[in-house]
Amino acid sequence: MELQPTTILLIEDDEEDYFLLRKVLTKMHNARYNLVWESDPMLGLQRMLTDQHDLCLLDYRLGAINGIELIRKARSQGYGKPIVLLTGANESEIDILALQAGADDYISKEGLQEDILRRIIRYAIERKKAEHEREKLISEQLASQALEKKRNEFISMVVHELRTPLTSLKAHAQILRKRFLLSGDEQDLRTTTRMNTQIDKLAELISDFQDVTRIEGGKLQFRESYFDFDELVSELIEEIQPVSEKHTILRDGESNKTVWGDRGRIGQVITNLLTNATKYAPNSNRIVVRTSSDNESVTLRVQDFGPGIPKHLQQKIFDPFYRLEEARKTSISGLGLGLYISFEIIQRQEGRIWVESEEGQGSTFCFTLPIDRAHAPEAGVEAAI
Ligand code: ADP
Repeated sequence: MELQPTTILLIEDDEEDYFLLRKVLTKMHNARYNLVWESDPMLGLQRMLTDQHDLCLLDYRLGAINGIELIRKARSQGYGKPIVLLTGANESEIDILALQAGADDYISKEGLQEDILRRIIRYAIERKKAEHEREKLISEQLASQALEKKRNEFISMVVHELRTPLTSLKAHAQILRKRFLLSGDEQDLRTTTRMNTQIDKLAELISDFQDVTRIEGGKLQFRESYFDFDELVSELIEEIQPVSEKHTILRDGESNKTVWGDRGRIGQVITNLLTNATKYAPNSNRIVVRTSSDNESVTLRVQDFGPGIPKHLQQKIFDPFYRLEEARKTSISGLGLGLYISFEIIQRQEGRIWVESEEGQGSTFCFTLPIDRAHAPEAGVEAAI
């Protein structure tokens, strides 16, 4: 394979040294160099900034200006190519100054050996490339962090702006509903009940968005206390049963345990699992909720008799915004955030959440939670993590 020649810009005011370097460079095997010579340092600086080349070889002694000053000037003007400084006899003490000014290496012209020069050229070019790659990566990371921060700020602002009118809408809808409840107007009561349900759905979506930005910004808050696990499960079943027309939610087992954790957040997970069971198993009429415990943990299982989830996608459904093809195709609404948020909550509460499912055989979503985490602060004290 034909090697691409390496173009070297040589800034050297001494013609003899130019000839010497040319001789050394042309003698080299396994490497091809294209040497471009400039004897005037100021023109050299211009050519550094405008001419195509891979590396600059620069003499330390350049008459009115020395090589180190030239390096400083070039670097301050954004010159990004590797620079190797050529020093004369007894000038090795300027090496540190040269590196500080922005040189990549230096070599003495005295007793110049072709293999050393070749290695220095090659290494300087490769090191510079790696340095540029690293800088590019860092600046890309910074840009993406800044973008993420902007995105989170934007979502927070949208959430806030949406929440205010929605809260007022909800209050008005509730007043209307109460009024129709009293007047016994069935038709209007049904309409306002539906209105209330839709407002609640919207509020949940907004809340999910807010949670995602909190998770990503590391700001998801937990308010922990001891609570009765079975009582929470019963409460939520009672809440969801009336709105789930098709399904009967059956309860099996008890944990008989008091758990340390954020009751609201854990309730949010249970609600999500129960709502999903009603949403994604529309052609069945049963959901079974099982609770159990051992000395260290409580376990909750929500079993539905829907289409199930293919094995290879059982992990993916916990990713943010991920929805199965079937869910996307049908009119079942959702953003694919509920399981992601649930996963984060259970993980932060030091538990584990997973799904057991066979296609066509329904799904069982499960989580376990430690009863009393070792580092739990005193009972009853609210802790924001
Ligand atoms: P959403 O319900 O808003 O889409 P989730 O994060 O709760 O978001 O669920 C992600 C996806 O996992 C759903 O879109 C659906 O495809 C799938 N899924 C969740 N629960 C079930 C279930 N019980 N049965 C079948 N698929 C489910």
